[in-house]
Amino acid sequence: RGQRHVLVRVAPLTSRLVLVLVEDRTSERRVEMIRRDFVANVSHELKTPVGALNLLAEAVGEARDDPEAVVRFSGRMKREGARLTRLVQQIIELSRLQGDALIDEPHEVDVAGLIATAVERNAVDAEVRGIEVATRTDDQVYVLGEGEQLLQAVNNLVENAIAYSEVGTKVTVDAAQVGGEVRIAVRDQGIGIGQAEIDRIFERFYRVDPARARSTGGTGLGLSIVKHVAASHAGTVEVWSQPGQGSSFTLVLPAAARTDDPDDFEAPPV
Ligand code: ADP
Repeated sequence: RGQRHVLVRVAPLTSRLVLVLVEDRTSERRVEMIRRDFVANVSHELKTPVGALNLLAEAVGEARDDPEAVVRFSGRMKREGARLTRLVQQIIELSRLQGDALIDEPHEVDVAGLIATAVERNAVDAEVRGIEVATRTDDQVYVLGEGEQLLQAVNNLVENAIAYSEVGTKVTVDAAQVGGEVRIAVRDQGIGIGQAEIDRIFERFYRVDPARARSTGGTGLGLSIVKHVAASHAGTVEVWSQPGQGSSFTLVLPAAARTDDPDDFEAPPV
């Protein structure tokens, strides 16, 4: 039987006033602690690739009479550089999302298009790993939000599904509207996640297997970005996983009320 894990999100705060009222000193201290922790982690995570780059630069200098070694070292420099770039991009992305405030000026976002773009972005990785990515999305499914953020979230889920799958398995991405909700589910037949870890994978920088994450270029920030994007769209993330069988991550977002929808009726002011 599979494990189920739901990140519950309290109803969105619609006014700044409510937000101020519920923030007490305890939560202020908690926020400060989380912030300090984050800064410490960031410094630690940045030091690794920067240190590696310094050592490799030195090694290249010393190996200038050995062309093969130069090629090898510069290849590793490129990989470390790419890792550093990705890390910095994700840290910036995360710091933008941190407040979990709802999106300022939401637009209607076409979910099928979102998924097609995310899958396309990961097509090369999927092919290299021999993984077939199948999508099944209803037409005319829309959510209200920020397209780039939503794309980032779906992209991170697809990227993980591919990275943590065995060669030759299948990844599926489904989207459907169920009542007032849009459910975007990314399923894999990969390594799965144990009960003890499942509660922690949304934490910043948490990786179940740091060695594996290193070889896949994982930063441990992907899922915390997904969590924040869901929160800023008044949504949630559901996880089901079974070690050795696979995982499924479902983004649950409020559906956009279409203009042709009879429910989309604004009461006139009294
Ligand atoms: P990373 O960049 O390391 O993938 P994430 O925040 O995206 O960071 O994920 C955190 C950790 O959760 C990963 O290191 C991995 O151990 C685990 N994980 C995420 N997605 C999956 C998945 N689809 N299957 C198995 N494990 C996963």
